[in-house]
Amino acid sequence: MTDTYRHKGLRKKLAEVVAKKGIENPEILTAIETIPRHLFIPDNALHKYAYEDKPFPIGAGQTISQPYTVAFQTELLELKPREKVLEIGTGSGYQTAVLLEIGVKVFSIERQKVLFDRTKELLPQLGYNTKLFYGDGYKGLPTFAPFDKIIVTAGAPYVPEDLLSQLKVGGILVIPVDEGENQRMKKIVKLASNKFETEDLGLFRFVPLLKEKGRD
Ligand code: SAH
Repeated sequence: MTDTYRHKGLRKKLAEVVAKKGIENPEILTAIETIPRHLFIPDNALHKYAYEDKPFPIGAGQTISQPYTVAFQTELLELKPREKVLEIGTGSGYQTAVLLEIGVKVFSIERQKVLFDRTKELLPQLGYNTKLFYGDGYKGLPTFAPFDKIIVTAGAPYVPEDLLSQLKVGGILVIPVDEGENQRMKKIVKLASNKFETEDLGLFRFVPLLKEKGRD
């Protein structure tokens, strides 16, 4: 678990790359400059590439998202300090760390036990303390609802009803939607308990949001 000046230099460059691609929020760029992304990638052989703006495998057929995508989704959430954010798809915990650096309260769900176990151990080691849950993201977290913001970090075949209902009025859900290999990034604003406004932010590629084991 070493973090060197070289790593620090590389992530400063990564923040510049992400900024050039259109991310303006300084808090997000600072988070990218701060978080040792290589430590979120379990395969040491990949550490030398960790500050390229690319996704990488993290085991269990999953990936750590591309930094630009993490930044883009985070920017769409329009976060304010101390807001309550639900994340679906903890994975490596990198997106979780970005949210925590910005100063919001994060509740994150992961449905693959190996990833859940690893990230539950890793985040506190890096100084990130938050609530991680092993479960099915389609159902959200009714016990802790409502949330100011919800972010889904896997491609969903449709927008889960439970996530819409667990959003506060005025809240934002950011979710990549479609069953194919590519998804359309949607920003959904909850205008009233049964009224939503959806904005389409273009094509992205995610691993699929998986259904419960034993179901399809
Ligand atoms: N935010 C993560 C992205 C990981 S990829 C990161 O930056 O590393 C998406 C993650 O969603 C995977 O870890 C996958 O196991 C998880 N996932 C897939 N379906 C899910 C579901 N139904 N509920 C919760 N997590 C799910």
